[in-house]
Amino acid sequence: MHPMHDLARELFPICRSITGDGVRETLSIIKRELPQLKICEVPSGTKAFDWTVPWEWTIREAWIKNSSGDTIVDFRDSSLHVVGYSAPIDREVSLDELRSFVFTDDRAPDAIPYVTSYYKERSGYCMSASHFASLPDDRYRIFIDSELKEGSLTYGELLIPGESDEEIFLSTYICHPSLANDNISGPVVATFLCRHLLEMPRRRYSVRAIFIPETIGSIVYLSKHLDEMKKNVRAGFVITCAGDERGYSMVSSRLGGTLADRVLENVLGTHHPEYKKYPYLKRGSDERQYCAPGVDLPVVTFCRSKFGEFPEYHTSADDLDLITEEGLRGSLDVLKKCVAALEADRRYRITCLCEPQLGKRGLYPTTSIKGSSSDVRTLMDLLSYSDGEHDLISISDLIQKPIEDLIPLAERCRDQGLLEEVR
Ligand code: ZN
Repeated sequence: MHPMHDLARELFPICRSITGDGVRETLSIIKRELPQLKICEVPSGTKAFDWTVPWEWTIREAWIKNSSGDTIVDFRDSSLHVVGYSAPIDREVSLDELRSFVFTDDRAPDAIPYVTSYYKERSGYCMSASHFASLPDDRYRIFIDSELKEGSLTYGELLIPGESDEEIFLSTYICHPSLANDNISGPVVATFLCRHLLEMPRRRYSVRAIFIPETIGSIVYLSKHLDEMKKNVRAGFVITCAGDERGYSMVSSRLGGTLADRVLENVLGTHHPEYKKYPYLKRGSDERQYCAPGVDLPVVTFCRSKFGEFPEYHTSADDLDLITEEGLRGSLDVLKKCVAALEADRRYRITCLCEPQLGKRGLYPTTSIKGSSSDVRTLMDLLSYSDGEHDLISISDLIQKPIEDLIPLAERCRDQGLLEEVR
């Protein structure tokens, strides 16, 4: 059973871009998994802060043939072969002229690079440097049947009500063509996380999850929802590059220290202490918008191998072999732990002065809480920091004990009247 990798495999071949039917097809598959997903269309030309929703791109065919009619590249073999947003073209060119239409990457000579040109009109192809070097002097026909016209930008939104209006926010992008770690791993992990959230019997937090084209999608979404998000979002996660097995990483929010920073640092620090924490200076995804001055949402970015930091990044080598069920499952597990920590996170204040007498409350030594001295020590440490100022996440950091161990202890002390919740 590889349910996450199977979904990645299904989504991988689709020729996605920031607009167009590739996005719609991707969202329709995600909607099959999350029937509550709402699919929204924003017309070309709509203003969003400093940006404008671009024309919609449709791609039907893109190939290069030699003078004998043999196909040199065909975007049907890999959606990476055509430069994203390529304008239509039908021309015969020399090998020398062909060079100006073809992107290669010498750093990864056997891989097809990923190139887009959203805001400057051009027609182009991508192929491996070694493939291009093998082409003989000849006449080549370059043909792209595409269309750039008024249409819309498409995104998916899932709102799951909780007991309060306070929100956990999830954002993932759906605009890269056939690329696995960056990018199809993100929507796959987000989809499975949403399914987990939908199945939770009780949830304090409401959930807002969006599946958007990167950059323009988050800007458009913020332009429509910023006020309510500033009011309600307590912790948000950009989920990207979440499918390989090479460790974990995160990009901090602009100034750090938000609830999202603290919970992800806590969970990764507890379970994957070798994780990499990148400062906001290493940003590159939609955290650029969510943490921009004046937007200032409490959002961090969660990754395994971060964009720009792994050798296969933005090339055809970032394929379905690079991401694994175990890699995807590991990301899902970290994010589920973050949700569980957020759900249980409270500020408690001890209800007595000086150390409490545990014995008379049946807390020391007890049969219900294991009586080892280290368990008692954890309980005493928890109580010692329960000053109404520190929440469970910061106490977990301070006393170096997993938050999942503190949650049942705190709830038991609350039930015994030894801790009271501070709102
Ligand atoms: Zn990317």
